[in-house]
Amino acid sequence: MSSFHVYWPDAHEVERAELNALVQQYRLPVPYWSQSATAQHFKSAIFWTAIELDATHFVRANGGVPIDLRAYYSSASGIDARCSKHDDIYVVVFGLPFLRRLVKICHRLGPVLNRRPRDYTSAVHLETRRDPVLRRILFDELAVSNAEADKIMNAWPPAFTEFADIGLGEFTLFYDLVRLVWLHEWAHVICGHTGVALGDLGLTELGEAPKMRSAAVQGDVLGLPHNLVMQSLELHADWYAIRGCVHDILLGRDPAGTMAAQANDIVDRLLFLNVACTIFAVLWSMSDERFDLRPFLEYGHPPASLRYLRFRTFQRQKVAEKLRNAAFVNKHLDDLSMCLVQMLAYACDEFECLLGITPTRMGDTPAMLRLDAYENRVTVIGKAMWHLLDKWKFEPSRDPYLDPIPWPPKN
Ligand SMILES: [Zn+2]
Repeated sequence: MSSFHVYWPDAHEVERAELNALVQQYRLPVPYWSQSATAQHFKSAIFWTAIELDATHFVRANGGVPIDLRAYYSSASGIDARCSKHDDIYVVVFGLPFLRRLVKICHRLGPVLNRRPRDYTSAVHLETRRDPVLRRILFDELAVSNAEADKIMNAWPPAFTEFADIGLGEFTLFYDLVRLVWLHEWAHVICGHTGVALGDLGLTELGEAPKMRSAAVQGDVLGLPHNLVMQSLELHADWYAIRGCVHDILLGRDPAGTMAAQANDIVDRLLFLNVACTIFAVLWSMSDERFDLRPFLEYGHPPASLRYLRFRTFQRQKVAEKLRNAAFVNKHLDDLSMCLVQMLAYACDEFECLLGITPTRMGDTPAMLRLDAYENRVTVIGKAMWHLLDKWKFEPSRDPYLDPIPWPPKN
């Protein structure tokens, strides 16, 4: 029997004891336990997806061993998100301080989101007020306390709300961020990345923090440049995460969309997901600079911009696959997203670099073409990794996202 288990912050005593024993045995980060309303939001953002993945019965492609994956939120500092493997147990941990930062980022962006463009025929961006606080949170210069995060989240509709008479808001953005992070980490285990990194590449964990990435990109491994090997795993996990998020939104299995009865506009809903992608792009590009990862990157293009562009590209592809009016949706979504990125750039300069790589009806910009060329290089490495991933990956009894084309393509 496969196990895809999440220890939610409000877990009962038996579950807490089980995780606490695991934490002690393997010296894992301390779990976050709470019954608070905000802990419920951490849960409701991804609860049904966890149930679905558990029911999907993943088994290892090589040998048929069922997956044993445990995930939880930790109150320890210094963790964005990370995967590790202990005997045959995979452990995925999400850091509370990082999530609290995301809560406040969403809250600071509330006024911009409330003024977001809605008119398809004449979408225009509006000037927004510069927000120095937002910049400091993005740069991780301002810690966000539990009390502050609680206060923000208590003003949102309660977790697990269904069809309240409200529209989308900052809570939607937070749910999208959480879902992207969770699906990305789960993908590292399911797709075999954690197995390869720990089993073949000699790492002790697969972490998202820039320092960990920096330490993991020294020299060559198995005849492949180590930095591009790691980047190919990240791009693969991004692909898994974004298709999962878009898939669930398009199918109406979207916890944030379900909360808001007034949310009946798919373009507007996907616009929030795009904003989530811009936030990660900015967070990643800023930490690249702070930890000076650029020497490891070829062509001088930070991967944050590539990851952003790929999020947007995969989203457009998924819409094209699933919606009959895909041309309408993608065209207007591109227009509105561009307006919103401009508004975000008024609030904080750091968003400005995304203007040149946000898809528009005018086609690819030179910056996008350069990123495409860079992606092709990483794709070659990704393909060279397939035999290793095949060894470690887990296959579902059925693919929950029903996507026939894996990334990178096998042939
Ligand atoms: Zn990752």
